[in-house]
Amino acid sequence: MTFDTLGLVEPLVRAVREKGYKTPTLIQSATIANVLKGHDLMASAQTGTGKTAAFTLPLLQQLAGSSKTSRHPKVLVLTPTRELAAQIQESILTYGKYVNVSSTVVFGGVKIGPQMNKLRQGVDILVATPGRLLDLHGQNAVSFKDIEVLVLDEADRMLDMGFIPDIKRIQSRLPEEKQSLLFSATFSDPIRALAKTMLQNPIEVDVAVKNSAAETVQHHLHPVDKSQKSRLLSHLIQDNGWTQVLVFTKTKHGANRLVKDLGKRKIRALPIHGNKSQAQRTKALADFKRGKIDILVATDIAARGLDIVQLPLVVNFDLPHVAEDYVHRIGRTGRAGNKGQAISLVSADEIKQLQGIERVINRHLHREEVEGFEPEHALPASRPIVSKGNGKGRGRSNNVAKLANKKKSNRRSRWSNRTNQRRNRAAGGNK
Ligand code: AMP
Repeated sequence: MTFDTLGLVEPLVRAVREKGYKTPTLIQSATIANVLKGHDLMASAQTGTGKTAAFTLPLLQQLAGSSKTSRHPKVLVLTPTRELAAQIQESILTYGKYVNVSSTVVFGGVKIGPQMNKLRQGVDILVATPGRLLDLHGQNAVSFKDIEVLVLDEADRMLDMGFIPDIKRIQSRLPEEKQSLLFSATFSDPIRALAKTMLQNPIEVDVAVKNSAAETVQHHLHPVDKSQKSRLLSHLIQDNGWTQVLVFTKTKHGANRLVKDLGKRKIRALPIHGNKSQAQRTKALADFKRGKIDILVATDIAARGLDIVQLPLVVNFDLPHVAEDYVHRIGRTGRAGNKGQAISLVSADEIKQLQGIERVINRHLHREEVEGFEPEHALPASRPIVSKGNGKGRGRSNNVAKLANKKKSNRRSRWSNRTNQRRNRAAGGNK
């Protein structure tokens, strides 16, 4: 399959080609044509699957072809974190460089005034985090009356971060007649309940990457005493000449301490976590992408959604408490078909977390001791992995795009209808 055969217009195909994409990813193949047709969508796809382009490309196409009579946003993209919001906006600018569609991004933690000014100038696509969007709406800085499409990105993380009441508040202020697209890494009961209130006859797309990310990445662990982890990491970085490494710690404090330790050994590193200001986070990410620093030390929430193309290596300095976070973490490497490596430094007290992860990824992590860092407190052997017998084990073929509910919606030609209605209204008004 190619981008042309998905029904995308030449200026968009040109932009993705320039970006180096040769073929659409699974989620893109499964969604682009359906979004173009105006269907509601419920897609289970994580960051790393190409989901941003999956919704951005067809929406850019719809907007490029619609009349530009309104200065109010027509597409609203809601996303949980500032980083993710900024990255979606960056993708919109990249994919939309040859079409005449305007976009802006608003999120908290920075001054609201400049965001108000941008909105006043008029915008087609608005990317926002929920809290700041409600602030802006409360101050009449943005109107929702022309919203035709709502995209809810990373719904599961929205839920974790307590954003669902905000989402509902926003939803209640949007026009009833609209297309809605919901993306979530997992579909728990509360997410399904939310989907029910949002979506009409949605097409379900399941590119179940939960374990497949784990399968495209080579991973292993180094058993090591807790007190030696920082020395071991420095040794590995210096010995292997590693650059562009994303390191995960459990806590913000741990991230700061590790950056300090690395600095003492002349390793260029910066932390990225919730206590850092937006400016500091953006700068750290930009410095990392530009190669000004070699190591980015992140906590799970801060790292969620970071878009770093072709990240070669992820290091788990601490194992996460929640086993699924391991899969999110390593989703930063081995993305969109690139090979990746994930290395975990594991101390004896982390055996429970390790076993939890091994259960989720359905395999044991290969263990390799590093000479000079053999632990005094031996890492206990992992228990055998017991299959849950629910068909979700290793044998299940993941990465299969599954189009379930194919009911056609009347909304199919809503874009053109609404555009025509608006045109007719405008023409009537001019008479
Ligand atoms: P996302 O899941 O949207 O965060 O995208 C993950 C990464 O895949 C990003 O770095 C994109 O630039 C890249 N990507 C998206 N679509 C494609 C594609 N069709 N081919 C190659 N890379 C892609």
